Amino acid sequence: RLAAPPIESVTETVCGYCGVGCRLEVSTAQVKNTQTQNTQTQVVQISGVSDAAVNHGHLCVKGRYAHAYHHSPDRLTQPLKRVGQEFQPISWQEAIALIASKLLQIKAESGQDALGAFTSSRSTNEAAYLLQKLFRSIIGTNNVDCCARVCHSSTAMALQIVTGTGAATASYEDIEKAKCIVIAGANPTEGHPIVGARIKQAVLNGAKLVIIDPRHIELADYADVHLQLLSATNVPLFNAIAKIIIAENLIDQDYLRERVEGFDEFCNFVQNLALDEVAAITSVAPELIRKAAQIIGDAGTALFVSGLGLSELTQGVSSVITYCNLGMLTGSIGQSGAGMLPLRGQNNVQGNADMGGMPNQFTGYQPLNSPEVRNHLAKLWGSLPSETAGLTIPEMLDGAATGKIRALWVQGEDIAQSDPNEHHVRAALANLDFLVVQELFLSETAKYAHVVLPAAAFLEQEGTFTNGERRIQHVRPAVAPPFDARPDWMAIRDIAIAMGANWQYATPSAVMEEIAKVAPHLFGGVSYSRLTNDGLQWPCSTADHQGTSTVHKQGFIRGKGKLVSIDYIPSPEHGIADYPFLLITGRVLEHYNVGTMTRRTPNQVLVSEDLLEIHPFDAHQQGISDRQPVKIQSRWGEIVVKAKLSRKMALGTLFLTFHYPETHTNFLTGPHLDPQSRCPQYKAIAVRLQTELNL
Ligand code: SF4
Repeated sequence: RLAAPPIESVTETVCGYCGVGCRLEVSTAQVKNTQTQNTQTQVVQISGVSDAAVNHGHLCVKGRYAHAYHHSPDRLTQPLKRVGQEFQPISWQEAIALIASKLLQIKAESGQDALGAFTSSRSTNEAAYLLQKLFRSIIGTNNVDCCARVCHSSTAMALQIVTGTGAATASYEDIEKAKCIVIAGANPTEGHPIVGARIKQAVLNGAKLVIIDPRHIELADYADVHLQLLSATNVPLFNAIAKIIIAENLIDQDYLRERVEGFDEFCNFVQNLALDEVAAITSVAPELIRKAAQIIGDAGTALFVSGLGLSELTQGVSSVITYCNLGMLTGSIGQSGAGMLPLRGQNNVQGNADMGGMPNQFTGYQPLNSPEVRNHLAKLWGSLPSETAGLTIPEMLDGAATGKIRALWVQGEDIAQSDPNEHHVRAALANLDFLVVQELFLSETAKYAHVVLPAAAFLEQEGTFTNGERRIQHVRPAVAPPFDARPDWMAIRDIAIAMGANWQYATPSAVMEEIAKVAPHLFGGVSYSRLTNDGLQWPCSTADHQGTSTVHKQGFIRGKGKLVSIDYIPSPEHGIADYPFLLITGRVLEHYNVGTMTRRTPNQVLVSEDLLEIHPFDAHQQGISDRQPVKIQSRWGEIVVKAKLSRKMALGTLFLTFHYPETHTNFLTGPHLDPQSRCPQYKAIAVRLQTELNL
């Protein structure tokens, strides 16, 4: 047995996987490469920072063990240029000149709106800010969007409608303070494991727990009641709970009178709901709906946790608004130990949207058409785009498919694997005149690129991430990027300069200084010198502001909070003849999204393929045995995967992950979008199964 190499250095930083944002202590040592026999500095151990506000010293199987990808031999280490069907290594100088000239050429030929950018939720705030600034101030388009579009855009829009700001109103510390925790459409023990562990502990300490989920997730074992609804029927279920809370006088009358508008209208609306009809739509028995309402109401206030099971639906915005109605009725929003806590998927998806990675808002959610905002930004940015919102990701991909969008810049997202209707996404990417991709690996999306820029991983760069509770934390490099890979912000700066901009940022800290000036209402008090230990939660508007744990404490940002009456519109994937099953797509604990990183770590040994979860009764009816290959067909495509018999599933419901590119899970997902947020439907897809295969 070899002795462990001596630890060379220990660096404090922030986990680059999920939106929980755990603080890490990263130990490095000199390790011999068994192939080249050279020694190099590698990460050899990661542990949690013991006094971290987010993780209290704990880490999950991703944060603690899944770091080996950073020294994978597959890493991109030089810029690549497409030559025919091949890639050729080129220098940074050549890559920068090529990208700058090609973007300017396409703008000159087809106008600024023929170009677009997808900023990355895995990259730093500084990199996301600079990319949207490049497209807005140099190219002159608002065609800037981020992966929040395909995950929590519905949540952000709903929260903005009812409270005035599109982010969590509560913090993770509210988990321990809550008398009642409601979890809808989220599976924290797999997707956000440290939050899941904190919820378990809170329940063991006496908090009530209500689970609303089509699957029997692990936390359902801890719950006082589990409403196992049919996927995409959240709206009538939440309306029914609201009706009972009102009927049983479990509302917070003072709060509603003083802080909320729309109560009388809402009462009239829910009066007409029939519980039996809701039960028939949702598959949840009336007595369970009553029990959940009573538990929430009896607690006085509750912490309403949510996930993509609400957001990634054609009724995504409606689902989250009707969930927020429960928070308003019980007076929970703006209170300690209560409020709305959507669990954000990627490490910096919150920050990415905050930085302006959205087509309809500038940095800090500032409106495009406010004269005051435009005057302010013009002084800082020089040139500004029009007041008209740009295109969302699905719209830019539609534009690429038809030739209206000619150039895209994709920063660290693997949309060819992660976005819905994969056939359409791949056709759109293949139709582009120019695609720039910043990536760690030659991902499915990078394979379509004309220029690929090798990026630095989170362990290799400085910057900031903003977690799901609006906490901005300092990310520090533990090791250097491999060979010629570079942090995204640096590459964007250099390309902007090559396009004629006078960008003088020497460090990410200088970028943050500008962000604080651009959106002082949220970030005015944020600077690297203040981001020690647990960082700062925005809003943090001045240098002496301590940050905000609970938003809307004194009043809502929009003035009064809003109760909204919303009718149920059935999902376009419900009740489709010949497609009797409803498929939900999602994640497992061991892997992170498209698996680009975790598949190159020891986690690969724990889970090495995507599996279709099916209830044993359904499997028996279909003649399917465990690990048997099954063809899944939707109206949009078909794939073959192995079945996994699981009693977690409700009858008629299936679950499938999308961690492996060879599975092509998103061949099955279709074109349906929420009409307001443009968030796709991943959580309810009508499918049928076929077992007799000629493999
Ligand atoms: Fe990283 Fe999320 Fe796990 Fe924390 S819970 S260690 S942030 S993956």
